[in-house]
Formats: sequence, structure tokens, C-alpha cells
Amino acid sequence: MRIDVLTLFPEFFEAFEDFSIVGRAIKESIVEINYTNIRDFSRNKHKKVDDYPYGGGPGMLMRPEPIVRAIESVKDDNSIVYYLSPKGKAYSQAKAMELSKQDHIILLSGHYEGIDQRVIDNYVDEEISIGDYVLTGGEIPAMVVMDSVIRLLDGVLSSSESYLDESHSYGLLEYPQYTRPDDFRGFKVPEVLLSGHHGEIEKWRKAKAIEITAKNRPDLLEERRNK
Ligand code: SAM
Repeated sequence: MRIDVLTLFPEFFEAFEDFSIVGRAIKESIVEINYTNIRDFSRNKHKKVDDYPYGGGPGMLMRPEPIVRAIESVKDDNSIVYYLSPKGKAYSQAKAMELSKQDHIILLSGHYEGIDQRVIDNYVDEEISIGDYVLTGGEIPAMVVMDSVIRLLDGVLSSSESYLDESHSYGLLEYPQYTRPDDFRGFKVPEVLLSGHHGEIEKWRKAKAIEITAKNRPDLLEERRNK
């Protein structure tokens, strides 16, 4: 898979590439990530990329020309362009799964008060929001998308790190997990997990997953019931 990130701050991503799973995926050529600085496509002598919004209002907007030139510099027939935006559709594990099946995704990170709407209308395939809050820029959202997509690519997680049991993979949050010691300051690991009884362990995990989902995310249970 190839990922192109369009950003005003490529340096933001330096540490990201060293992360264990992402770094491993890059080293093993499972994913190739390229960063393009949108500012390099400004023809303004001061490399300015922002301007005042028509109609007034606070802050500055990113102008369309440098963004579109940056998109055109990396786009081919198979590319899908996603703009990270608080106005986008809510990102989810299902969306991460969908993106992980693409050959080439382009992640456009905005800044300031966002980008000129003509870019969204004519050059973006989809807007993605990582949550109902506003961040300063699209760099953290781009990392969120890349991290969640890359761990789903074939060969990235070993079988012992499989994502199939994880929260959001099958409509429930993950069951509680424990490691050694079995008695930590008097707090004991549930007996059933020490029993070696696989059937009982499975039953307990399913019940706990439902209990945690009902407590923290009743909306997910409702969605599951309506499917
Ligand atoms: N004025 C915009 C609005 O009210 O919708 C917010 C712009 S925000 C300060 C600057 C940039 O951060 C956006 O262009 C977008 O790329 C990114 N961003 C902020 N919050 C985001 C979110 N929840 N999901 C995805 N991207 C976000």
C-alpha cells in the first residue's frame, strides 16, 4: 500500500515512522509513506499558503492552488483523496478496514481555519473526522488514520497480535485482560482465566465484553441489535 500525506508540517511525522508496528511495516515494504509539503507548491515569493476568508470571519484559510498542485503531484488513477476535517464523516474501525483495502490513499491535512471549499468539492473524494472536537491541524488525524490502517495490512501484526478480538472489530469492546502476577496487592485475576478451561474462558470473555460495551458504549450494543 502507498500513502501520501500532504501537509504544511512534514517534520511532525518524523517520530511516527520509528514506531514499532508502523516502522516494521515500512521496513518490510508492506507500506510506503511519502510526505509532501504543500508550501513547496506555493508560487508566492514568500511561500504564503493562506489568505482571508471571503465574506469576513475569524482566521485564515488555506488557498486552493498550492493544495491542488500538491494533490496533482502524487495522484494517479487508483488514488483516493481523503481530507481530514472536523466536518467529515466519523472515522471508525470499519472505515479503517475499508481504507486498508486501497492501493493508494492521499491524506490531506488542513491548518488555520481549514481549506477553500472548492478543493473539497472538486478534488477530495471523502472528508474524514476523527472525532467531535477541533484540533489545530490535520497531522494528528492523519497519524490516527495511518496507524489504524497500517496495523490491518496483511503481514503487519503477527498472529499473537491479531486484531480480530480487539475493541470495535466485531461490534463489542474488548473483554478485560490480565497478566502476571495473579495476585497484585490482593487484587486477584479472575479464577476462570487460571482454570485452563477454554470453553469457560470464552464464555466469560463474551459476557464481559457485552458488560463493558453496555456500560461504556450502549450505542454499539444498540447498533448490533439493529443489524
Ligand atoms: N474551522 C474548521 C471547522 O470549524 O470545521 C476547523 C479547522 S481546524 C482548526 C484546522 C485543521 O485541523 C482542519 O483543516 C483539519 O485538517 C484538522 N482537524 C481539526 N479537527 C479535526 C478532526 N476532528 N478530524 C479531522 N481533522 C481535524
